[in-house]
Amino acid sequence: MTSPFLLRIASYVAVLTGLLFCERVAPFAAPEQRKPFRVRFHVGISIANSLILYLLISWPTFTALTYAQGHNIGLSRVLGLSGWREIVATVIVFDLWDYGMHLANHRIGLLWRFHKAHHSDMEIDVTTASRFHIGELIISGGVKCLVILLWGPSLWGLVAFDMLLTTFSQFHHSNVAIPLGIQDTLERVIVTPRMHRCHHSLHRECYVANFSAIFSVWDRIFRSHHRARGVDELERVGLVKPRGEETMRLRAFLLTPFVKG
Ligand SMILES: [Zn+2]
Repeated sequence: MTSPFLLRIASYVAVLTGLLFCERVAPFAAPEQRKPFRVRFHVGISIANSLILYLLISWPTFTALTYAQGHNIGLSRVLGLSGWREIVATVIVFDLWDYGMHLANHRIGLLWRFHKAHHSDMEIDVTTASRFHIGELIISGGVKCLVILLWGPSLWGLVAFDMLLTTFSQFHHSNVAIPLGIQDTLERVIVTPRMHRCHHSLHRECYVANFSAIFSVWDRIFRSHHRARGVDELERVGLVKPRGEETMRLRAFLLTPFVKG
């Protein structure tokens, strides 16, 4: 049987490599920071986060999963879902949960303190998808255990969601010059780089919009979608403060939640 763990690592590395190549050949915005440094900094954070999550969250996640399966609880079982239908439904339900979690990260002060570390990146590229504060990941991992108990997914349903979430996060953070006409078409179904770059932009209509991760439909349903009208709306990304070199220093990154402003 294929290991879900190895499958996720292989997918992460393959997508990262492919998008780094595309960003080199056809970047959307001219990069200012050195790419090898950005790769080392953000992939290093991601490796450390994965190890900590493995120690702290994998056991509660597995326990919630096996408890729901063992006691036959969860809405997916009430609905009688199994096989590929359950996997598709699990991806959709957890993508909706991720939309709600992302919205909460922006609306609730305590959660924003942690999510701010992701938004403090002054460039957006595929490596930004690996830039998350461990505090945010522990909190969302804990909430996800509750969603597992409520929904009752299969292991492969959950693996499919996790892999798609990582892949789409890498894709929609990527700095690739995909023609905007093509992105308009794609954006009817999935989150595109233009749509998510808008979420990272300092433009007043952008940074309060576009919280979806895989399917763009959630932003349309909950009226948080914004289509950037011009490239100027996408130019200035990051936060008002901090800016500059400190956004790429590990100590400052880790202390982000504890610094005022
Ligand atoms: Zn955000």
